Amino acid sequence: MGNAKMATKKLFMSVVVTSLVWFALVMVYILNSNKKNGPEQFGRRNIGRYRDLAAVIVDDDLSSVGTDRHRFGPGENGQPVLLYGEQRRKGEKTFDANAFNLVASDIISMERSVPDVRHSLCDSVRYSKNLPTASVVIIFHNEAWSTLLRTVHSVINRSKLKLLQEVILVDDYSDKGELKEQLDDYVETNFHNKVKVIRLEKREGLIRARLLGASKASGKILAFLDSHCEVNHNWLEPLIDRIYRDSSTIACPVIDIIDPNTFEYSASPSVRGGFNWGLHFKWNNIPQSDILKRNSEIEPIRSPAMAGGLFAVDRSYFEHIGSYDTGMEIWGGENIELSFRIWQCGGTLEIVPCSRVGHIFRKTHPYSVPGGIDQVFTHNSIRAAEVWMDEYKRFFYATRPDAQGRAFGDITERVQIRKRLGCKNFKWYLENVFPELSVPNENAHAWGECRNPASNLCMDTLMREQGQPVGVYTCHGGGGNQVFSYTKLGEIRHEEWCLDVSRKKVGEPPTFEQCHGLGGNQMWKHTQNGVIKHQASGLCLDRGSAIDNGNLRMSHCSSRKDSQLWQFSQYFEGEADVIRSNEEEYFAF
Ligand code: UDP
Ligand code: MN
Repeated sequence: MGNAKMATKKLFMSVVVTSLVWFALVMVYILNSNKKNGPEQFGRRNIGRYRDLAAVIVDDDLSSVGTDRHRFGPGENGQPVLLYGEQRRKGEKTFDANAFNLVASDIISMERSVPDVRHSLCDSVRYSKNLPTASVVIIFHNEAWSTLLRTVHSVINRSKLKLLQEVILVDDYSDKGELKEQLDDYVETNFHNKVKVIRLEKREGLIRARLLGASKASGKILAFLDSHCEVNHNWLEPLIDRIYRDSSTIACPVIDIIDPNTFEYSASPSVRGGFNWGLHFKWNNIPQSDILKRNSEIEPIRSPAMAGGLFAVDRSYFEHIGSYDTGMEIWGGENIELSFRIWQCGGTLEIVPCSRVGHIFRKTHPYSVPGGIDQVFTHNSIRAAEVWMDEYKRFFYATRPDAQGRAFGDITERVQIRKRLGCKNFKWYLENVFPELSVPNENAHAWGECRNPASNLCMDTLMREQGQPVGVYTCHGGGGNQVFSYTKLGEIRHEEWCLDVSRKKVGEPPTFEQCHGLGGNQMWKHTQNGVIKHQASGLCLDRGSAIDNGNLRMSHCSSRKDSQLWQFSQYFEGEADVIRSNEEEYFAF
């Protein structure tokens, strides 16, 4: 009897406790969903002010996904802004100063929403509660007001604020009036102390500007951004997570594309960073072998090189590996140098698919560059090649004759960093990190410019595209579009493009097609300073005549016709002949 009473009492108590727990859970849920979607929260975001950062920090989850859904207006959700009539004409005029359409940018809200283009699996990833904080460093030189501040607003709105130590804006000696007091005022009223502005006393260029920002940062992690970006939802946490797991990692977001004319935000495909022998950065497809190794589509992608402007790194590790080469000027080459250094000195460079940031890809640099952009880019690239590329630097010089014999300043300190850190050589890098890069003397019989000595015309891409005729142009010795190789597969090749003859008729021009490595219409035979014979048709490459509009054309072979004789600048007969996979397909944005 006593036992039965006890059992009833126990049952009663457990019902009470369970109900209380349920009640509490339901309350927490209701309060939370109010916080996420409630009109107050929406209103606060909508007027674009973080008057009460503390309140936002409490609400520190992915609420940006929810609130962004409620926004509408020009450009919202990353939609394109189309201009007509007078506005269109005005917009076109703004390209000179910005290399993008400033009228379109000014129409769009500073806090516009972007499409959540992350893989659906990203939402289910749970990150450590102990992640360190990051300082976001945004450097700018004469950036337009609306693009600069849209960058900052996007960081504030779409980062987990407890992970955001601060945002540091570094003004690289801009001369636009609005970027002075007006900017200070805006930042103070809108972002309290979360955003700081620091200024350089003279024009330093992006390398030294980023270093100044880094020196003032107090977060454990540094996250660099260009001044015309829009970060996507929860972009920061996945980057910090990778560095938290392994502090020798440089983590890059996927760089989505903001159209410079319409400001449309579109997801970029899954690619990784690479470069050609001229040390020009390129986007490459991810090799099949790497795709097969991955367990999921959101696993980070190892990348031979980084685009440069957008990456996160542990602050002390960045210092440890020698941050940047301060002997580099204004713009360019620093991304390739850092990529070589990180890999050769034991670190990892990767692209983290769940972190996405939109960037305006511009066709030109709208700002002035003391000494000229080409000159500083060449200067910086030489320093990268001299410090890191060992004997392979000869391919760089062969591709960029403008770099030959140029002074490049003192690199002793950089060479010492390489020694101090016991870094591996460039051969190791090529074999282990970027085996897809075709090494001329290993994959080709001949390489360099392909000259027709009688006319001093050289084979030239003339910047043409797939399916278009291959051209000739006066040899300029500048490498670039005049670099071709005669590969061991029998291709006549420029980067990923091969000379292809599908209409086997005299007078037809060969066209550029994606190299397929299967011979067929892309198979040629060439002997030093002799003809280049197409195997399938038995016809030979002829430099063409004035009526051919600068196109090559196919002709009956005759080694007595000087218009059919070709000379590459280098022949590699007798050199090492390890043939590397040439399967990689390349493309650039
Ligand atoms: N930048 C700078 N000082 C310079 C040149 C560029 O601070 O002398 C900044 C620029 O405002 C941008 C970043 O460096 O935030 C990268 O430059 P840009 O966007 O022109 O390079 P791209 O993205 O075209 O490689
Ligand atoms: Mn940029």
